[in-house]
Amino acid sequence: MIVISEYFYTHAQICLSGHINNSNVEYHPENENSFCQICGAKVIDECPSCHAKIRGERGCVKGNMLDNCFHFSTIQRLSIAPAYCYACGAPYPWTEATLKTAENIINMLDDLTPDQKKQLVDFIPDIIVETPQSRYAALVYAKFLDGLQGLAVDCFKDWCQKNVFPTLLVLLNMQKQ
Ligand SMILES: [Zn+2]
Ligand SMILES: [Zn+2]
Repeated sequence: MIVISEYFYTHAQICLSGHINNSNVEYHPENENSFCQICGAKVIDECPSCHAKIRGERGCVKGNMLDNCFHFSTIQRLSIAPAYCYACGAPYPWTEATLKTAENIINMLDDLTPDQKKQLVDFIPDIIVETPQSRYAALVYAKFLDGLQGLAVDCFKDWCQKNVFPTLLVLLNMQKQ
């Protein structure tokens, strides 16, 4: 007799830089790491703010009662690290690092006024994930960055290519080449 469990999330291990080290700790403990195999940063499996476990793959356990053989069947893989904790809403450490980096670069855009810099910093969360404000945020970015040149601008565009979600890059006129 085949039995199938309810769908549930396994737990994941992700490094502080956001590299997924193990997307299914329960069923693939052999992949467990203390430090990231890509960048060497510490690996965590729970939210530092509320200690909720980081969600990994979603799926169910299927098995046969007769031979007592059960396995995890994935219906949804974990391909990118989640940006925010589903339980408390806090940004995960890699999201915080991304936000902080953007803030530092924006503060180096010397041609902007302090007020313009503040507006851009306030909008960073709206360009790394889709929110109701995203499109407006993109327009403000495009307007403020228009015509600016220099090392910090290039550096910021580079950051955008890596961290802004793709449909918004089009609005920012920074499509991936
Ligand atoms: Zn890493
Ligand atoms: Zn949390």
